[in-house]
Amino acid sequence: MIMEDSIKHQGLRRHLVELLKSKGIDSKSVLKAVGSVPRQHFMDHSLINFSYEDQAYPISSNQTISQPFTVAFQTQLLEIETDNKILEIGTGSGYQTAILLELSSQIYTIERQQKLFKKTQRLFKSLGLRPKKIIFGDGILGLADDAPFDRILVTAGASQVPKNLLDQLKIGGKLVIPVGLKEQEMLRFTRIAEKEFNKESFGKFRFVPLLNDKN
Ligand code: SAH
Repeated sequence: MIMEDSIKHQGLRRHLVELLKSKGIDSKSVLKAVGSVPRQHFMDHSLINFSYEDQAYPISSNQTISQPFTVAFQTQLLEIETDNKILEIGTGSGYQTAILLELSSQIYTIERQQKLFKKTQRLFKSLGLRPKKIIFGDGILGLADDAPFDRILVTAGASQVPKNLLDQLKIGGKLVIPVGLKEQEMLRFTRIAEKEFNKESFGKFRFVPLLNDKN
């Protein structure tokens, strides 16, 4: 597989970073990560010319690669600190995972579509990207073996907040999750004590659904 990052791609990426700034992304580390990760590697081959449009696109298994603004916005909400242990639900194309890997080496990621899981696992290998674990399974359950986490990011729309994910947060840890049926409200939960969570709301987004084992 040819993994090209041409001068043209680099130029388009700089434009994308400027666009995200103009849309309100102000975290230097997040902007730097977006400026470093070649999004074309995560796109469907037939759509490669659109890699630096600020839009979501179809990938295999009827899923989507998230819009760069959404990836940057969710990553910014996580407020990642050095070497945070982070769980991502919904590996998808692996683009968001690659952004997280720019910010921490301790990334765990779960995908429930087996074909997509296998494809992205191969892609990570060929790109030399090394999440701690990439798992085929149901992210609604979280990852009990490796819990607790400093940060948990859900990249699919949840009908409700999975209790397991709240339970698997460290005290001080944060869960960023879009919640809703047709459209989703972006929520951030911070665990301030064993049984106490602070909930904040950050506007409407649209995601593919977070599916459980029954659908
Ligand atoms: N971060 C991805 C977003 C992909 S879309 C990217 O930027 O490409 C959301 C992904 O969540 C899809 O790949 C979908 O298959 C996956 N997903 C849906 N329900 C899930 C579940 N219960 N557990 C794990 N992954 C799930």
